[in-house]
Amino acid sequence: MNTINLDGKVVAKNIKDKLSARIDNLLSNTIIPHLAVILIGNDPASKIYVNSKHKTFNKYKCKSTIYKFEEKIKESDILALIDKLNADDSVHGILVQLPIPKDINLELVMESISPLKDVDGFHPFNLGKILEGNPTFIPCTPHGCIKLLEYYKIPIQSKHVVIIGRSNIVGKPLMVLLSQKFKIGNATTTICHTGTPDISKFTLMADILIVAAGIPHLVSGDMIKDGVDIIDVGINRINDSSDKGYHITGDVDYDSVLGIANSITPVPGGIGPLTISMLLNNTVESAEKKTM
Ligand code: NAD
Repeated sequence: MNTINLDGKVVAKNIKDKLSARIDNLLSNTIIPHLAVILIGNDPASKIYVNSKHKTFNKYKCKSTIYKFEEKIKESDILALIDKLNADDSVHGILVQLPIPKDINLELVMESISPLKDVDGFHPFNLGKILEGNPTFIPCTPHGCIKLLEYYKIPIQSKHVVIIGRSNIVGKPLMVLLSQKFKIGNATTTICHTGTPDISKFTLMADILIVAAGIPHLVSGDMIKDGVDIIDVGINRINDSSDKGYHITGDVDYDSVLGIANSITPVPGGIGPLTISMLLNNTVESAEKKTM
């Protein structure tokens, strides 16, 4: 079997190009889609993510303002900034780049963002709307996975989707979204996690396997069935002796699944680019509500 490479960059460009006409329409109404990003501390990966979001927003004629703080910033200062941004009509999306320092209450910060500006889709109100079957803002990475499955016309209806990882930002929303009776959905979903004694028992049954555990090469060729479609969400930084000092790898041992899987997303170049496109999508959607 010739395993198909599910190129996320192609899908991401397709989504952003379609958004361009909607952005032009907003600009002609003097509305500039505007994302406010709060970055706390010096995590190198966070800085890279925030910069690439900023670059994408600028490239697509949208605005992103980065509010950068030292690790020792007080929680009350962050909450005061969020209050200000919630009240600012020129801001359509507010994002707090994770992780944040441990002495700042993550739940409190997330819940202080107005659900109407929660373009990351992490607010309990927006997560609840997903559970209810009426999504408002869908978290960007799960949304990107669904867009990729749709673009490559991978059948989902009545299929068995196995997800590894139960985080609030990837695994849990995906489990709920794909099991709902949506156009892209209506699948049977199984979720595996650190409490699952033998994940291969489940991965071997998957028609579609989505891996979001953050463990390099957790899934190998002997753990999958012939013809499975695989989405590798994992982004793991592995130190090496290259000039950069590291390389990025996924949660799936890519080479070992070639010839067995029907298709797989590469890492990098799979879900990563889609996450940013869906953030742009959510911010544009939020700005469009101003014209209604
Ligand atoms: P997380 O650490 O919050 O959750 C990981 C989940 O995996 C947990 O629920 C845990 O139970 C499960 N898990 C861990 N080890 C396991 C094992 N050995 N067997 C079974 N389950 C196991 O992580 P997250 O924030 O959901 O991210 C997961 C991965 O996806 C990370 O590598 C992260 O960098 C990546 N990620 C990528 C994007 C993107 O844009 N591509 C976005 C978000 C996260």
